[in-house]
Amino acid sequence: TPGGLKSSEEKIFVTVRVRPLSKKECALNDQIAWDCIDEKTISSKHNNNDRSTAAYTFDRVFDPTCITQQVYEEGAKDVTLSVLTGINVLILFPFSATIFAYGQTSSGKTFTMRGITEHAVQDIYEHIRNTPEREFILKFSALEIYNESIMDLLNRASGPLRVLDDPEKGMVIEKLVEEVAKDSQHLRSLVGVCEAQRQVGETSLNDTSSRSHQIIRLTVESSLRECSGCVKSYIATLNLVDLAGSERASQTNVDGIRLKEGSHINRSLLTLTTVIRKLSDGKRVGHIPYRDSKLTRILQTSLGGNSRTAIICTLSPAQSHMEQSRNTLMFAARAK
Ligand code: ADP
Ligand code: MG
Repeated sequence: TPGGLKSSEEKIFVTVRVRPLSKKECALNDQIAWDCIDEKTISSKHNNNDRSTAAYTFDRVFDPTCITQQVYEEGAKDVTLSVLTGINVLILFPFSATIFAYGQTSSGKTFTMRGITEHAVQDIYEHIRNTPEREFILKFSALEIYNESIMDLLNRASGPLRVLDDPEKGMVIEKLVEEVAKDSQHLRSLVGVCEAQRQVGETSLNDTSSRSHQIIRLTVESSLRECSGCVKSYIATLNLVDLAGSERASQTNVDGIRLKEGSHINRSLLTLTTVIRKLSDGKRVGHIPYRDSKLTRILQTSLGGNSRTAIICTLSPAQSHMEQSRNTLMFAARAK
């Protein structure tokens, strides 16, 4: 089966990455609050109350000394390659894979996803070079979801885009620009265009990066060159997702005060956490509320059956971010 998927129960691969203390945190004499005990376990340093003595176990825990290449190789490479290795024709249910970065604002989501994207692009082109018997077409698109509006990062002027249910193609995002990447350099320049677009948004609207989700989508089409009379083509997508700050999914702030819905809660992020929890519970038959938000609607086929998912949960090491870090670890534990 595509991507070496054994069955639809394939679990979500969940890793945790703890960034180093920032210069500012060091200057403020903030303390490191977490111990990466081994390659799979993290626990809080201070057991001043029993809640904080808990150790959490994941598929992999990356301590602050781990570089992004390591995070990619052990946390995202398999999922990336899964969109390249399948050769089945699955027109109705194209294979798709998704890599998410989840974590509070300033925990390292964008830093991590930029590196992951770069490594993924390298690996995809290496695979193409090493597979001369197949012809590949790579398509690039990118969008941002802000306040439940979808913006095209390759064509911001087109305004908010609509999601449509096409009877043949399934879910489509109307008017989303899809560029054919000629080579890896072209693909990198498209990624660069999107990053620049995101920064434009950031300066014009206060605090957008903590509220918006960015999705870079690579569609890989391939077919056997020497294959007269047979249809040996394959199509798969890879979604690279830099999520809104996870503090936008929690009902309470650090002091436990309930904040007003709308000003604080991010509907897409909240729905995503519900969907992932239900999927990891194995309740694929019950109602999964994909349609409750733009993000989950767009990623529906990427999260459901014929897909693979990696979630990299990013964590600030600082004592001052303890409460949000704990929320992130609880999300990560539920996703497993
Ligand atoms: P987020 O996207 O989650 O808000 P960023 O990726 O912007 O957070 O990271 C916040 C800051 O921390 C940035 O200045 C970034 O360069 C730095 N940073 C994040 N992760 C790391 C890391 N693993 N190593 C070194 N610096 C990092
Ligand atoms: Mg960011």
